Amino acid sequence: MLADRLKTLAPSSTLAVQAKAKELRAKGIDVISFGAGEPDFDTPARIKDAALRAMQKGYTKYTEVGGIPELKQAVCAKFKRDNGLDYEPADVVVSVGAKHTLYNLAVALLNPGDEVLVPSPYWVSYPEQVRLVGGVPVAVTTQESTGFDLDPAELRAAVTPRTKLVVVNSPGNPTGAVFSAEALREVASLAVERNLFVVSDECYEALTFEGRHVSIASFGPEIKARTLVVNTCSKAYAMTGWRIGYAAGPRALIKAMTDVQSQVTSNPASIAQWAAVEALSGPQDEVAKMAGEFDRRRRLIIDGLNALPGVSCVMPKGAFYAFANVSGLFGKSVPGSGQALKGSLDVAAFLLEHAKVAVVPGLDFGSDAHMRLSYATSAELIQEGLERMGAAIRML
Ligand code: PMP
Ligand code: GLU
Repeated sequence: MLADRLKTLAPSSTLAVQAKAKELRAKGIDVISFGAGEPDFDTPARIKDAALRAMQKGYTKYTEVGGIPELKQAVCAKFKRDNGLDYEPADVVVSVGAKHTLYNLAVALLNPGDEVLVPSPYWVSYPEQVRLVGGVPVAVTTQESTGFDLDPAELRAAVTPRTKLVVVNSPGNPTGAVFSAEALREVASLAVERNLFVVSDECYEALTFEGRHVSIASFGPEIKARTLVVNTCSKAYAMTGWRIGYAAGPRALIKAMTDVQSQVTSNPASIAQWAAVEALSGPQDEVAKMAGEFDRRRRLIIDGLNALPGVSCVMPKGAFYAFANVSGLFGKSVPGSGQALKGSLDVAAFLLEHAKVAVVPGLDFGSDAHMRLSYATSAELIQEGLERMGAAIRML
């Protein structure tokens, strides 16, 4: 009955883990979730107030498909302020979250059989979106020993005549890597030389704890002309539920993405757009405050993970994820069942059952040796989660 493309589609495992934890909690089971990456902070009051004002003013109708002019203007000012990038409103499209932005891009850019280089470990949705439109995701390994920095030589070796697009995601999900400026520069040269397009997913820009966030598009006009810069209000402003993502890039592509959106969702919610104007243009101090808190939690969780027997974790430089190596647990048998842990799915299932802790298996991000923990949760819960995992692992 269903379309062939559904034969390979895996539903989002990050959202699935979050849903599972919620379901168990509703049943009265006290699960600590390190599942989906979602800030636990509330959306700042100034942003909610802007939404209330928008409703009161009657901004409750369809808007321009790609976003209201005020928001496009605010996006341009943000790119100038934070990234030194010059765009005009016609170079911008606003969508229903950055996930939607990325899907618009896949539909607008990729032909069946086009190859997309995806540095691995990768966020679950990149390969799935590429496959949905008949493209071919090509995972390109990065190394734990370099903090999962982008590997230009590996990327170069993976280019074929069918390669059309390179995905760059820094700070990265799931590893928390912040790519070095040198590696980014080499990838920019590669893209120009081999006529590739780049999508730079900068959703975690505000959560850069070490080093400085650099947009690959800022290296010069040649690379800017072939890069779509993607960002979101979800993470920086704790606005995951509002669903506002945005992008800037070459005008013809922006127009194509907007045309796709006009036939699929129309505009993002009018009220959320007015909230986003305030988010991007108002005082930015709460962004730094939230980032400071995430940074404290980062140290807490990484130190705690490294103290667990059989687990090791490199210090991520950004985002709010710990990507811990759990291969030291493989082969150990689970008490009661006698079964040995064979991979990240087993480890995640074991921790859920015996520690009541939810994590996302690394396999879904392209590495079966790891598990991902989102530390966008309180320090108390992180501490308690670490203790529970420690107690469970010591039973193995
Ligand atoms: N890119 C990355 C790397 C992500 O982790 C996420 C998930 N939050 C998104 C894009 C999409 O975010 P949203 O759709 O909430 O804007
Ligand atoms: N991006 C977040 C994550 O990876 C939220 C869920 C999702 O959109 O995948 O957990």
